[in-house]
Amino acid sequence: MKLARFAVDGKTAIGVVDAEKGTVQALAPHADDMVRIVEAHAQPAQTLKTAGPIRALAEVAILAPLHAPRRNIICVGKNYREHAVEFARSGFEAGAVAGAEVDAYPAVFSKPASTICAATDAVSLHAQATSAVDYEGELAFVIGKRGKDILKENAYSHIWGYVAINDVTARDRQRNHKQWFLGKALDRFCPMGPWIATADEVDAENLTLKTWVNGELRQNANTRDLLFDIPTLVATISSGLTLEPGDIIATGTPVGVGIGMKPPVFLKTDDVVTIEVTGLGRLHNRFF
Ligand code: MG
Repeated sequence: MKLARFAVDGKTAIGVVDAEKGTVQALAPHADDMVRIVEAHAQPAQTLKTAGPIRALAEVAILAPLHAPRRNIICVGKNYREHAVEFARSGFEAGAVAGAEVDAYPAVFSKPASTICAATDAVSLHAQATSAVDYEGELAFVIGKRGKDILKENAYSHIWGYVAINDVTARDRQRNHKQWFLGKALDRFCPMGPWIATADEVDAENLTLKTWVNGELRQNANTRDLLFDIPTLVATISSGLTLEPGDIIATGTPVGVGIGMKPPVFLKTDDVVTIEVTGLGRLHNRFF
């Protein structure tokens, strides 16, 4: 089941998407907060119902599917080997050590929930704050079942669904401040969507992830190549920290970001970044 949040006739609703037909139908009873849906429907495919008009996706405004998580988006850095190398060699990783590009433990940071925007929203380059904005296409997952100290073998039973994000990053702030939060936290720096696909229909360990900038393919990877797999991430992050329904965890970006180019190439006005993940639809954001 694919769940999108959308606006039509001045109202917002969550609905079920038929991606092949390009349609959406609202849930019944009406709902517009995905966190409440996640909490109330641990087995969504069996319990969610729809009613009312079936609308073409083109007739509605698609919003971020999970727009108000209770807390920050939890993100993993350097989780594909070739990306870890390109980042270390770029000069933008504070404290990078040649020959030690791949970490022994996952690097984890967060982005404030206020960064979340929709799959087709325009995103400011924040020229007053940064001159080095870069894209990061990523697979993210949504926690469905609360848990702490989750064992790897139980990790997937805590995941409710999957969604594509762009972990937009101001590289100069990431480098200059020797941490990642300030470079990751700018308004609209987390395009998300267009829908969340529930876990029952996603093979998370075999998804193709592609990113284009103005139609030029930049990232083309498969989630099987994650250095720290999803069970490891769930076990690591939930160690001593209770994960709650609606928490979002982004798994990291593969090779092919702008700082990996020689010389680095950053986003500029009117660039369009397109990200596709198998079964999760397409992000398509213009920068200005
Ligand atoms: Mg990232």
